[in-house]
Amino acid sequence: MSRIMAGRQIAIIAGGTGSAKLVRGLASIIPQERLVVIGNVGDNFQLYGLQVCPDLDTIMYLLAGILDRKRGWGVKRETFNMLKTLRKYGVEAWFRLGDRDLATHLYRTWLMALGLTLSEVTRRLAEALHVKARIIPATNSPLQTYIKTAEAGAVHLQEFWVKMKAKPRVLGVEYRGASKAKPAPGVVQAIEKAEAVIIPPANPVTSIGPTLAIPAVKEALKQAEGVVVAVSPLTGGKPFSGPAGKLMKGLGMKVSTLTIAQLYQEFLSLLAVDRADARFKRQIEALGVECLVTSTRMSSLKDEKRLAGEILNAAGIRL
Ligand code: GDP
Repeated sequence: MSRIMAGRQIAIIAGGTGSAKLVRGLASIIPQERLVVIGNVGDNFQLYGLQVCPDLDTIMYLLAGILDRKRGWGVKRETFNMLKTLRKYGVEAWFRLGDRDLATHLYRTWLMALGLTLSEVTRRLAEALHVKARIIPATNSPLQTYIKTAEAGAVHLQEFWVKMKAKPRVLGVEYRGASKAKPAPGVVQAIEKAEAVIIPPANPVTSIGPTLAIPAVKEALKQAEGVVVAVSPLTGGKPFSGPAGKLMKGLGMKVSTLTIAQLYQEFLSLLAVDRADARFKRQIEALGVECLVTSTRMSSLKDEKRLAGEILNAAGIRL
């Protein structure tokens, strides 16, 4: 694998909860200042008139040290009084917005109404929370993930996952707005010039798919000067958590780590796979992608640090 030392920064193409685990590992062994996190925006949506950005916020709270580790989303020691009050008013409150979290959405919505872009607002929020890494939304253009279902037609990803509990039959996915979306300022440069680009374990359909559907982002990954390394979110033909399996099946994909390698093969240098998937090593390498077989389960900070260390080492990154 080429080990071009083009810069000191490490770009991360992130989703939500799975990505947060590896990012926590990375941030605990290298200075946050070296990380540029390019966040998924496909799951952003409007709720009660507020602009909610679940994946961007998960990464921001994590890097600020205030993520609720057990839930994997939201702020720790959260309370939900606002939601309880909304329910009293008869409002259907299917999406859990905590009281502390609410301030983020409120402030973001306010700043955007004043004319700031999503990336400007993201930067302002992160700086206020003393986050040292850079967090950039993949795009400031409108881009939303819709799941095409048999029973309910096309529904926004959040509605499918949270409100409908992923029950409807999946027929397909639409990344609305993606083909016309422009990467947010800094995204292309961060990917192309990074010492390495890391794709942490994340749902390929809903967390990484929307970002890759932005043509200029995909192109930047192909042009990346550093190595591009991903961690499979699957083990033994199943996701560690979440609806990735159901969504992949609905899109006609085989739920397999080999599919992850195929999805990313045009820009991927190395894929880390779980020991349970060791048998795919030769097939992955036949795609021109190096394969690191290791334990990819992250159940503790120790696991996260170990896996992050292995990834950096495989990418030739000096600590
Ligand atoms: P969602 O939960 O599917 O909506 O999507 P996210 O992209 O936010 O993150 C969850 C993804 O990360 C899922 O596809 C999981 O299988 C994967 N994941 C969660 N925990 C782990 C882990 O400990 N190790 C690995 N390799 N993947 C994980």
